[in-house]
Amino acid sequence: MTYLVNGLYIVAFAMFIYGLMGLTGPKTAVRGNLIAAVGMFIAVVATLISVRHTSNWILIIAGLVVGIALGVPPAKFTKMTAMPQLVAAFNGVGGGTVALIAWSEFINSQGFSRFDEEPTVHIVVGSLFAAIIGSVSFWGSLIAFGKLQEILPGRPIGLGKLQQPLNLLLLLGAIAAAVVIGVGATNDGVSQLWMIAVLVLAGVLGLAVVLPIGGADMPVVISLLNALTGLSAAAAGLALNNTAMIVAGMIVGASGTILTNLMAKAMNRSIPAIVAGGFGGGGTAPGAGGDGEAKQAKATSAADAAIQMAYANQVIVVPGYGMAVAQAQHAVKEMAALLEAKGVEVKYAIHPVAGRMPGHMNVLLAEAEVSYDALKEMDDINGEFSRTDVALVIGANDVTNPAAREDSSSPIYGMPVLNVDQAKNVIVLKRSMNSGFAGIDNPLFYADHTSMLFGDAKKSVGAVTEELKAL
Ligand code: NDP
Repeated sequence: MTYLVNGLYIVAFAMFIYGLMGLTGPKTAVRGNLIAAVGMFIAVVATLISVRHTSNWILIIAGLVVGIALGVPPAKFTKMTAMPQLVAAFNGVGGGTVALIAWSEFINSQGFSRFDEEPTVHIVVGSLFAAIIGSVSFWGSLIAFGKLQEILPGRPIGLGKLQQPLNLLLLLGAIAAAVVIGVGATNDGVSQLWMIAVLVLAGVLGLAVVLPIGGADMPVVISLLNALTGLSAAAAGLALNNTAMIVAGMIVGASGTILTNLMAKAMNRSIPAIVAGGFGGGGTAPGAGGDGEAKQAKATSAADAAIQMAYANQVIVVPGYGMAVAQAQHAVKEMAALLEAKGVEVKYAIHPVAGRMPGHMNVLLAEAEVSYDALKEMDDINGEFSRTDVALVIGANDVTNPAAREDSSSPIYGMPVLNVDQAKNVIVLKRSMNSGFAGIDNPLFYADHTSMLFGDAKKSVGAVTEELKAL
């Protein structure tokens, strides 16, 4: 039986890795996802075979039923725009599970003292590591979920200068409680209270680390929490002696770490600076008083926007979160086809954190069958804006904010942005003068060469398309 279980695990791991490879491109992503899911199913079956002598089948089946009932509906029905929240929630559940596994191992082994007669170092250290990181990840993900779902304010919430010493104290406290358990592991068992102290201190640390992180850094934080959950699952796998958990956890940990690094690089931020918090919040939204009152944005009409674009040599479409909300991607494709028929070159500028998840714009535009060749990454297109007649911003805001380049007092100063302001003319499609995710003002909207086409992006693009047809 052990051979069968190990054989099934190896098949499952191969499928995880093959599935991940599929996720590198939009054409193979759906199949890749499916392959990895089948791999996970095989890993679950193998694990069930390995515990076949258990007397807890009712509990296991109840767990499976509850998991399926809670997992499938949100995965099926959550809108694309709410995917980051879903990822944060699922990630948190993973971290919480790992922390609970560590706790239950502790209880089962009566403080590790009667675990397998003599608890091995990897069981004790693995469990304690899993308890700390899993708890940090669970509570941190809950805060990330709350911020993305706008249940909590997106701005940084913290204790200012006291925050870092507090976080350090919490971390040292959790480690100290874990050391007390580790040292006492070979004695007659350790009080439950120490384990509860580990979980509580790590949980408060998770809250204290994520609360002060502002809106614009959230994508990197979610990815970081995801990597942490993977690592904690691998540690729990060590403690449980479950190869599937170790391998799957390491894959999540490694890929999450790579993604975190790439995203931090794309935003010109260092991971320690992000964890230190305080970036990407605050600022004054126009219309809410402050600087916004002094400035005036120019409104335009669909007819004027259509004329401006029809006579352009090149139009760069800059999609953002608003395009996702409005589900305007198909309308955009139709409008671009009309422009191209009139001899206008149309390109799409893709910012790495446009929308609410990595690759969000690529997925939407691929769904509308916009040619992948027309999608240009930020570094490739930024030099072209100054030669472009019209930049058409569709529901993008933060990723076009020139303050990130020019205003050292801006909360997003240093984040690379699309150089939309350098285009000869800018047309911005959004519903109001409200701010974007980072909650800050965007000087682009008040520039002399910018005009605002107010309204839902899908309706506005549709109206422009009708005007183009009439030209
Ligand atoms: P923003 O959130 O900065 O701005 C989106 C704009 O879209 C808003 O200003 C809003 O203005 C407008 N909008 C909303 N609905 C509609 C609609 N139906 N029609 C037209 N416009 C609409 O988006 P960006 O894509 O520019 O930037 C992404 C932000 O999200 C960054 O701050 C990034 O850090 C953050 N983020 C990114 C993640 C990622 O992984 N990509 C994950 C989490 C956060 P109005 O209300 O006036 O219409």
